[in-house]
Amino acid sequence: MTTATTTDWRERHAHDLMASYAPPLRLLVRGEGCWVWDDEGTRYLDFLGGIAVNSLGHAHPAVVEAVSTQIATLAHISNYFASPAQLQLAETLKRITGAGDEGRVYFGNSGAEANEAAFKLARRTGRPRILALRNSFHGRTMGALALTGKPALQAPFLPLPGGVEHIDTTVEALEEAMRDDVAALIVEPIKGETGVVPLPDGYLAAARRITERHGALLIVDEIQTGVGRTGAWFAYQLEGVTPDAVTIAKGIAGGVPLGVLVTFGAASGLLQRGDHGSTFGGNPLATAAANAVLDVIEREDLAGNAHRRGEEIRAAVERLRSPLVTEVRGRGLLIGVGTVEGASSAVAQAALANGLIVNAINPTSIRIAPPLIVGDEEVEAFAERFGTALAAS
Ligand SMILES: *Cc1c(COP(=O)(O)O)cnc(C)c1O
Repeated sequence: MTTATTTDWRERHAHDLMASYAPPLRLLVRGEGCWVWDDEGTRYLDFLGGIAVNSLGHAHPAVVEAVSTQIATLAHISNYFASPAQLQLAETLKRITGAGDEGRVYFGNSGAEANEAAFKLARRTGRPRILALRNSFHGRTMGALALTGKPALQAPFLPLPGGVEHIDTTVEALEEAMRDDVAALIVEPIKGETGVVPLPDGYLAAARRITERHGALLIVDEIQTGVGRTGAWFAYQLEGVTPDAVTIAKGIAGGVPLGVLVTFGAASGLLQRGDHGSTFGGNPLATAAANAVLDVIEREDLAGNAHRRGEEIRAAVERLRSPLVTEVRGRGLLIGVGTVEGASSAVAQAALANGLIVNAINPTSIRIAPPLIVGDEEVEAFAERFGTALAAS
């Protein structure tokens, strides 16, 4: 095999891959811990973590060991059969979500699939209306897109599954929309794809009271916030709220695709045999990877680390006192840096040129979502590189 040059891979990508993504930033060939390397040998501090996916960083020995052993033993069996890894993961998820004994777990392969399952769960209440928030993001498949509160993403693909209404993110709007014909309200504790925008203080608790009063499900989309990232296993736990269902994906399996719907209490009885399914969902390989990830997060208290390192990173950004930075948002290691209009992409580009990966998620926001294992060395390297990028922009 010959070595590809930079223009080669860019041209090959443009020629061979569907045009639905922007041209990729670099050709990455290797990763270790919080660092990745490109084809030219340049090292980058990865503070995006594959969009909040690489909870344990790259090539974590526990994930390598779990995946290698499982794939050499039994990778896939279909849901006609059960596996020890799947049973173990379901039990762990019931415990860490707080769903407990009455909880039930459904496995798919992505965030969108987890939300598709939640959509079907809501339909099974027999009620016609589903409430979701304006500017929310719940995925790109047709059902998940119907839940997503971004008309620009939906417009080319109408008609979408019906019955979904998008409301403002205020308690008043929820009170006004809520009646006994509402099946469910779905919310993200922090709107990740909208620039890391947390729900208003007290919103989630109010949403719990209001949905409960009307017998509607509260579905919390923790696909980006979950699995330790915000400083707790799940962000709803920081608010003392118990949902009826939670969807989980991104950070759960160390980069192996896995999406999960966990139901609580009576919601666990809604989906009936034959209602839903997936060929790959919950296979031994993905669930073994997730078991390894959850085990390390728990043993090393990486949720605690996410809380502490998040504070350090936020403080570091504030200390830079850049005129380009308007505010710092988020919780734990899901951080949004607000910038003056249009500055975010210049800063992210300058950061990349300086060996730091952050994500310009929209013209006024930079997303920072490093692995939960970040330590002193990485926080210091981040502060230095991000400061240089801001100064150069
Ligand atoms: C990423 C994300 C999704 C979609 O997950 P995919 O794995 O890309 O399908 C849904 N909801 C939220 C909150 C997300 O961040």
